[in-house]
Amino acid sequence: AVAEVRVRDLTVLYRTAQGERPAVSNASIDLRRGQITGLVGESGSGKSTLALSLMNAIPEPGRISAGSVRVEGVGDVTALRGEHLRKVRGAALGYVFQASQNSLNPLKAIGRQLLDLGRSHKVQDPRTLVAKARELADRMGLDGQRVLDSYQHELSGGMRQRIGIVFALVLNAKVLILDEPTTALDMISQAAVLDIVRQVHEENDLATLIVTHDMGVVSEVADRLAVMYGGRIVEDGPVLDLLRRPAHPYTRALIRATARITGDTAEAKALPGRPPDLTTVPTTGCVFRERCALAMDICAETEPRLTAWAEDRRRACHAEPAAVTGESS
Ligand code: ATP
Ligand code: MG
Repeated sequence: AVAEVRVRDLTVLYRTAQGERPAVSNASIDLRRGQITGLVGESGSGKSTLALSLMNAIPEPGRISAGSVRVEGVGDVTALRGEHLRKVRGAALGYVFQASQNSLNPLKAIGRQLLDLGRSHKVQDPRTLVAKARELADRMGLDGQRVLDSYQHELSGGMRQRIGIVFALVLNAKVLILDEPTTALDMISQAAVLDIVRQVHEENDLATLIVTHDMGVVSEVADRLAVMYGGRIVEDGPVLDLLRRPAHPYTRALIRATARITGDTAEAKALPGRPPDLTTVPTTGCVFRERCALAMDICAETEPRLTAWAEDRRRACHAEPAAVTGESS
């Protein structure tokens, strides 16, 4: 598949009381056309920071300090500013922020905000835009016309989340970025909404990134998975292969901690310890070593690089792949 987005050596810093600290370190990943990439990892691992970087939308006190985000037909988004950047957001990159409930204007009906969006992106035919939004909303189990006539406070959290997805899709962006798009929904609605996302993704041959800490959700909708820990992408690959033989100890632990994947609650084993935050993340060696059952001397000294080890699979780990997957090599 063609790469629609190429992230290279991306580092994002946030200013803390102790100085600037990386929330994303040296991340390189492609979003391929026609594929849904799931980005998983515990809270604080840097998923939202990476997703925001794709739109050059890191808030103060943060900044992209190194690397590039090349979007097909756009160029390096990290070099864009002002009006140019605003146009690219929405038109080329459709996105739903985490807690997107808050991104709507409380004082305007949803339909008005849709028209504002169309105007700011110079959409020629507002009626087509409205019809498209209504259709998308209907497909997501909402009463499209009613929702367009509503104000934010008249909608539930789950309805707002679905509206957020409609807004992300309505301008026909080729890249779709969804940060925890279904957390306000119950299990049934979650599956239904992700099903529609999947359909729209396929109909339009999009490159889609879904950020979530829920392995169960994403394993059902994604084609590929990327796993983050302590600001690093520690592993990625095709979803089925990665779930069947995780090759990074962190991925293995995440899968074991997810009862829904193994289908057996008794099998679910919590990963001991806590993930690092900006001020506690190790600056030398492997970020995961303190929680890793396979840690060796070298893990404290040298940071493992994300490298290919099998067809379409990458991992950042000093242990032999077979020692993690349990396969004989
Ligand atoms: P979650 O699953 O909770 O959404 P996440 O993987 O999306 O977590 P990020 O929100 O990207 O994680 O945060 C990565 C790190 O950066 C965390 O340590 C977080 O505390 C820090 N961070 C995030 N936003 C800011 C900010 N605006 N200012 C300072 N630090 C921040
Ligand atoms: Mg987040």
